[in-house]
Amino acid sequence: MINGLHESGANDVLIRVAAGGICHSDAHYRSGISKIDKLPLTLGHEVAGRVEQVGSDVTHLSTGDRVCIHYLVHCGSCKFCLRGLEQFCPSGQMIGKHRDGGYAEFIKVPGANAFSLPDEIPFDAGAIMMCSSATALHALNKARFKAGESIAIFGFGGLGFSAFQLARAFDCGDVYVIEINPAKLASAASMGAIVIDARSADPVDQIKEATAGRGVDVALELIGSAETMRQAILCLGPLGRAALVGLTAESMSIHPYTEVINKEVEIIGVSDHLATELPLLIEFVRGGKLRFPPETLRVIDLDAAQINAALDALQDSIDHVRTVIKVTSDQCAS
Ligand SMILES: [Zn+2]
Ligand SMILES: [Zn+2]
Repeated sequence: MINGLHESGANDVLIRVAAGGICHSDAHYRSGISKIDKLPLTLGHEVAGRVEQVGSDVTHLSTGDRVCIHYLVHCGSCKFCLRGLEQFCPSGQMIGKHRDGGYAEFIKVPGANAFSLPDEIPFDAGAIMMCSSATALHALNKARFKAGESIAIFGFGGLGFSAFQLARAFDCGDVYVIEINPAKLASAASMGAIVIDARSADPVDQIKEATAGRGVDVALELIGSAETMRQAILCLGPLGRAALVGLTAESMSIHPYTEVINKEVEIIGVSDHLATELPLLIEFVRGGKLRFPPETLRVIDLDAAQINAALDALQDSIDHVRTVIKVTSDQCAS
């Protein structure tokens, strides 16, 4: 008997989970740093699997289809949802935070949240791309990033790793990766980024020097510190856009005239991502423009001890290696 199956509605799909990504925010939910309203709760918002049952009103999916899940369940009819801005839906619920998630054998979601996963994309990649990669794409979209533009990426964890590849997929100009971690600097350099070691000198000075004083067109702040947010704004050239993605409760100080107004730079907040952005993301992964090489994935079983150990390790980890729970043996592309 499948738990909750009898409650499936006409708009729902029941999915047999194949892979579930373990995210840094899951560690925050477990520790209480991010508040969860209702317990107990099954974590897991990075989910891919196969459709097991389809509600009568869901027309775009059939039993057996491979799918990945958009984690934000939304009403579809409020003024935000109607404009495709479902992250502001007043009744929005995040899977694995406000409702049960994918550290499970089955998950039930509205059909609108299930996207076809092409055969070329393994389930593990199909799961992990639905969080940090999707948010990296949203950040580039919010910054109105265009072909040929230069970009500074502050932080080379999961978000930065995806943002770098996505910037390339957009035919970017020069890419600067700002980091303090030697392993991540080496990793970014091996992928072709111009690396800026923030330990050696002020990263803003280094970027200005590397760009003959011009600065960059777009900066992404993916770390979540007031200091790097300020650097992301200061390294911009005229008409530059700084997209702030990292979370912090710190305050930041900016001199409005010299640092924002006279260069007409923009400071842009980035929160989550949108369903409308996912088809392009899926296409980038299918076409190999966004890749998750095996050395960037760690696979564990659907087992409490293994999951808790992974969450323990994540608590202070900031690398771009992602842990994926392999729930079924249905892992490979087929
Ligand atoms: Zn996540
Ligand atoms: Zn809504």
